Amino acid sequence: MRKNFGRSVLGISLVCASVMGFSQKKEPINVIMMIGDGMGVAQVSSAFYFGNSAPNFQQFSITGFSETSSTSHRITDSAAGATALSTGQKTYKRAIGVDKDSASIPTILEQLQEKNYKTGLISLTSVTHATPAAYYAHVKDRDLHEDIATQLVPSGVNFIAGGGIKYFTKRKDHVDLLKEFTKRNYQYHTSLDLLDPKKNQIYLLADEGLPSKDEGREDFLPEMTQIALDYFEQQKQPFFLMVEGSYIDWGGHAKNANRVVQEVLDFDKTIGVVIEFVKKNPNTLLIVTADHETGGVSLGKYSEKDPTTGKIVEVPRRVQIEFNTDQHTAALVPVFAMGKNQELFSGVYPNNEIYHKIVKAIAEAGVTIK
Ligand SMILES: [Zn+2]
Repeated sequence: MRKNFGRSVLGISLVCASVMGFSQKKEPINVIMMIGDGMGVAQVSSAFYFGNSAPNFQQFSITGFSETSSTSHRITDSAAGATALSTGQKTYKRAIGVDKDSASIPTILEQLQEKNYKTGLISLTSVTHATPAAYYAHVKDRDLHEDIATQLVPSGVNFIAGGGIKYFTKRKDHVDLLKEFTKRNYQYHTSLDLLDPKKNQIYLLADEGLPSKDEGREDFLPEMTQIALDYFEQQKQPFFLMVEGSYIDWGGHAKNANRVVQEVLDFDKTIGVVIEFVKKNPNTLLIVTADHETGGVSLGKYSEKDPTTGKIVEVPRRVQIEFNTDQHTAALVPVFAMGKNQELFSGVYPNNEIYHKIVKAIAEAGVTIK
């Protein structure tokens, strides 16, 4: 008797809750996508041997691998790579937000805007560069920077940070796009100064790209990311944020070991900022991955001349970065996930599947996109 009574009471309370409309209500999930451009497994590994403390990469319990090829080339570029991540479709090299037939395809950022999400993009290079552009622009070639800049103005992205001033102000058509931003309730910054949370934000800190770490960049990436997270916390709406560590790739192209290491450590520091946010805001999904690997990087033995014998000998407690090429490679890249529905990202899959996994992760909270 008592058991039955218990059940009926529970039954009534569930009915009441659903009648009152709060039984199944789940908060939409925040999504933070961090892309280390050119960041393969060896680049991530460098953080374990060249940093002063345990890397934040070590905090992830869910990892996977992504296969990065484009439809036109086995070895992809940042445009096709980022488009696969932003739209769920593999496309040809150099394509930005368009499919293999050059037709525009909606990005995750655009679709989430329609679901009442606030959105943000942070890059070290120009905000018109391939990786951020693939989230808001639709052009057949990544080099169409001025067209991409034009498309950023009406995009409605709430928080934009990086470089690329010249594509907005020193244009062939002589239009000053920065004026267009201010007409659309944007606050424009040329340094990391205070923002008005009621406005959209655009930070453009360089004519083209910001300097790399080895050329003197300070803590732009972790600080800007913290500013963005504070901004979104004040909006009382779910958000989508993409953060790019752009110059891991450039270190590979330049075969510059110090640049690779400094950029990976800076990206790892930024991951630490985001992980703190995810821990405080568990209704957030963080994905860290790369568009492709650059440099065919490996970590090999480090040797130097023994001062007494003059012989070249291995230094047992050191490793060195070696490059196999100054180009991109076809190596699988790592995927790290943390937070709400993180377990979806375990496994080995093509790069465009990351998009579909995010779609699945947020559908659980009632947000459905294609
Ligand atoms: Zn590259």
